[in-house]
Amino acid sequence: MAVRQEALFKIKSVQLNKIDLPKKVSTYFGENTFSIETMQKHISKETFEAFKIWMSEGKTITLTQANEIANAMKEWAISKGATYYTHWFQPMTGLTAEKHDSFISITGPGKVIEKFSGNKLIQGEPDASSFPSGGIRATFEARGYTAWDPSSPAFIIESALGKTLCIPTIFISYHGEALDAKLPLLRSDEALSKAAVGLLKLFGHKDVKKVFSTCGPEQEYFLIDKYYYNLRQDLLMAGRTLVGAASPKGQQLEDQYFGTIKERVLNFMFEVAEEAYKLGIPLMTRHNEVAPHQYEFAPIFEESNIAADHNQLMMDLMKKVALRHNLVCLLHEKPFAGINGSGKHLNWSLADNLGSNLLNPGQTPEGNLQFLAVLVAVLRAVYLHADIIRAGVALAGNEHRLGANEAPPAIISVYLGEQLSKILDTIAKGAKKEISKHYVIDLGLARLPQFDKDMTDRNRTSPFAFTGAKFEFRAVGSSQNISTSIAIINTIVAESLDYVAEKIKKANGSGKDFNEAVLQVIAQVAKETQDIRFEGNNYAQNWLEEAKKRGLPNVASTCEALKAFVKKENIALFEKYKVFSKNEIVARYHIWVHMYTLVLEIEANTLNEMVNASVIPSGFEYAKLLEDNLGGLINLTKNAKLKFSNEALKDQGEHLSEVISKIYYVRRNTKEMIKLLKKCAGLSAEEKGKLYFEGLKPLMEHIRKHVDDLECVISDEHWDLPKYREMLFIK
Ligand code: ADP
Ligand code: MG
Repeated sequence: MAVRQEALFKIKSVQLNKIDLPKKVSTYFGENTFSIETMQKHISKETFEAFKIWMSEGKTITLTQANEIANAMKEWAISKGATYYTHWFQPMTGLTAEKHDSFISITGPGKVIEKFSGNKLIQGEPDASSFPSGGIRATFEARGYTAWDPSSPAFIIESALGKTLCIPTIFISYHGEALDAKLPLLRSDEALSKAAVGLLKLFGHKDVKKVFSTCGPEQEYFLIDKYYYNLRQDLLMAGRTLVGAASPKGQQLEDQYFGTIKERVLNFMFEVAEEAYKLGIPLMTRHNEVAPHQYEFAPIFEESNIAADHNQLMMDLMKKVALRHNLVCLLHEKPFAGINGSGKHLNWSLADNLGSNLLNPGQTPEGNLQFLAVLVAVLRAVYLHADIIRAGVALAGNEHRLGANEAPPAIISVYLGEQLSKILDTIAKGAKKEISKHYVIDLGLARLPQFDKDMTDRNRTSPFAFTGAKFEFRAVGSSQNISTSIAIINTIVAESLDYVAEKIKKANGSGKDFNEAVLQVIAQVAKETQDIRFEGNNYAQNWLEEAKKRGLPNVASTCEALKAFVKKENIALFEKYKVFSKNEIVARYHIWVHMYTLVLEIEANTLNEMVNASVIPSGFEYAKLLEDNLGGLINLTKNAKLKFSNEALKDQGEHLSEVISKIYYVRRNTKEMIKLLKKCAGLSAEEKGKLYFEGLKPLMEHIRKHVDDLECVISDEHWDLPKYREMLFIK
């Protein structure tokens, strides 16, 4: 029996004790977080006030106050059973990192106490020399520093035998340059706030102090049985299958999307939710996705900074909890060929400190004007900076997904829905009055329609769609840290909000009535950005042609797309808004290009091993079976004078020859692949990236094609790699 068939007998759900009365979420939501309310209970009034001012105005607290908070945090954590603490940060690997220290401090021979000082709360010094820095850190100053991000509450992570206090931090170099995904996000929120507050002032909102981005990421993922996972080198090493014939049944019956959730998976979901709620993550939605064994979790939206931390935590939780259920959670963008990949829809909007959503159509004519001004600013941002948006989702995994007829293409365009589009078109035309079934625009009176939210009917193929009171950016990869995309969107929108505000001021200053001035700017920007709007099917071939005519970028290759980060004008934009320094953005470019080449090397070397250690030996065993059989028949013809039809013998001969040829093709292309890797060994990451995209990937696809052909004929007994139909359908 093939090992993969043996695995079949081990597959089963874990035994769970039935809960008669599940706990009410409201009774334990956030119990493992040192929330602002918890903090308030544990520290003095003065320190709490100082902390609040730090949060709202950036005036830092004193070391004595930090000590008080550290102590309170420690007492709280210890009272909940924590024995270790860690600064929790997000280096540019895309993952989270932690280095744990115990709370103990020696007080005398053989004596310890639990201690945690303000110094240790505020700053940590993990030996950071092994984190990617893209050249920011020279080896002589290899240390990186973690610094407390008080805007994201500390939390406790539980494992079976203990608890750890995790303190969200940013990660910076000796010179204060961002080495992580988080600091740029925080900076971008500041830039966005400044620009948006400026615009709101024009509209008379003198009381708005702060604007921040909000985000709700919809996380897609696959689950497969652990036994199968462990038998696939490719899943273990690369997170995706490098070979594997299509299952006869895939997603064509569309019977999975929103289907009944299998009990085994549902149990996993319940446990994830419980863990998430304890950490204050407001999980909301869970459902089956389009592909077999593909699912989604979505939270209620939060301030971006918190949403980003929560999404990182969610990804960790999902992987951890899956293992408890003998499942493995795959977050790769394309674990299986031929069926949908996984993304992360980033729902994004802006909110002010008084609780208004700036992308919520207003209740009054003035409110609507303001809404439209913000809306055209977003349009302009995407129109001018589609290249940076694309660069933010450029990674090896996502390269398989974007444009693969399931995810938005690499062309970035915006969908507004019929009603909003018509309104913008009407304003752009300068028409004064238009009445239709759905809306009334009367610009003479500066009267605009009450927008009907349901009219932003969903175009699921658009990469950047307005869906009610938010935009939904759908090109983010499922494994990505969302901070980068949020930082990019915040920055480019900040720039356009400034632009719109300036234009309004100018028009208003030249004597025009304010509302007229705003309308004029809306009309102008709507006209200028016309080309970024697309309401049709983004998967259709004619969109590619149309987009080309419009001059919209369509970059398939990751490394090409990443180049947007080092374009002069883009560096200048990031520097102007203080989100990335030139050094920081160039470093990221180098890290991400390098990462791309590393991922492809891991994949190619894994494929090489799989082919040589598994596929070809299976092929030989099967060929031997065919040889023996055919030889036996010929023997019987000769020695026992048995008669077989010539066609039957010929057919077996042909089959044998086919199998031998396939094995040959696989071996030949694999050798080519290794040769290519060797040839590239001395090249720069940029050169490698290009050759890998143009040469290595097609070779790998070629190998895969022949391997998959073999999989479909080689006897089940001799095929050890779990098949798609098993991984995706066995319950
Ligand atoms: P779908 O897009 O799947 O139909 P919804 O539109 O209801 O689902 O919401 C998807 C996600 O968008 C949820 O995580 C939700 O919290 C988030 N969302 C809703 N409003 C906002 C907002 N103003 N800012 C950011 N995210 C939001
Ligand atoms: Mg959605």
